[in-house]
Amino acid sequence: MIRNKIFDKRPLLIAGPCSAETEEQVLNTAYQLKTAGITLFRAGIWKPRTRPNNFEGVGSVGLKWLQKVKEQTGMLVTTEVANKSHVESALRHGIDVLWLGARTTVNPFSVQEIADALQGVDIPVMIKNPINPDLQLWTGAIERIQKAGIQDIALIHRGFASYGESFYRNKPQWNIPIELKRNFPDLPMICDMSHICGRRDILKEVAQKAMNLDYDGLMTEVHERPDEAWSDAAQQITPFEYKRMMERMEWYRESRENLTKEGLSDIRLKIDRLDTQLLKALEKRMKLVDEIGKFKKQNHIPILQTARWNEILEQALVRGRKNGLSEAFLIKILDAIHEESINRQHRILNDEGSISTT
Ligand code: PEP
Ligand code: MN
Repeated sequence: MIRNKIFDKRPLLIAGPCSAETEEQVLNTAYQLKTAGITLFRAGIWKPRTRPNNFEGVGSVGLKWLQKVKEQTGMLVTTEVANKSHVESALRHGIDVLWLGARTTVNPFSVQEIADALQGVDIPVMIKNPINPDLQLWTGAIERIQKAGIQDIALIHRGFASYGESFYRNKPQWNIPIELKRNFPDLPMICDMSHICGRRDILKEVAQKAMNLDYDGLMTEVHERPDEAWSDAAQQITPFEYKRMMERMEWYRESRENLTKEGLSDIRLKIDRLDTQLLKALEKRMKLVDEIGKFKKQNHIPILQTARWNEILEQALVRGRKNGLSEAFLIKILDAIHEESINRQHRILNDEGSISTT
């Protein structure tokens, strides 16, 4: 069946308006995207909104418009489902791919309801990350959908909410999707840069970063008249802007082949050697920390010596500035070393005996 091949496309490009608003808006946007080489046309029909009194979607009438997109442009279509009745209507209208939104993945009851409705159905499903940076919730949603027998699953990274003003609408926290990808290496990872950015000017940069991280595709909100969009206006772009942005992307089509090329494996070998040295240095450092711990215990000296720690940090930062290591990186890594050192000394002080390496 064609639809089982949908997630094999690279790059996997999904684009379309945040919301279906009118038949004309959906079809106009779709016609303009037809020449953009996208894999799937998206439009939200039921819009889960954080606050009431915002546009909550046109409802199932929009499914008929998506059907027309399919018939008239030949593009495959996808929409968000948040409960059993959404799933049933979408299936009745021949929607090709379903997706679970961030406000659904966050709730195991909703995910389970959808999983139950999908039991025995053969349809590809995309699962967005939950609103909050919780790898377990995202993993749980994947497992529930897998248990329902759905074979074709793709993941969508749309960033994570945080309190207060921030550069991104939803912080990317790239480490979370990367960790998830380690656990589910066969599931394609798609970056929804529109919801990460919340604005147009940085879309390309974030999309490129995702591609550099070997993501499998992009989901982008595209609207024929973005400024007049009924939802998420600030982050939507025109089909023309979308095409221009895609043309300017570096796709790294050969990234996998390049891995085996000589130059890269030489450098990798050097990196592996350095990593071994780094680990050995850390092991040695922790042995010295244990000695200090014993000394502090015998001499009744408190573990935390703030002045000493500030001195170590300051020296490292001065060195880092000279040698091009960022302050944020050094602080993160030294803080981790410091925390581990303190924990080991605590265990020594509390007489927990020798430290196992597990
Ligand atoms: C959307 O894709 O328009 C949407 C509501 O996204 P999210 O679930 O990521 O907020
Ligand atoms: Mn949106």
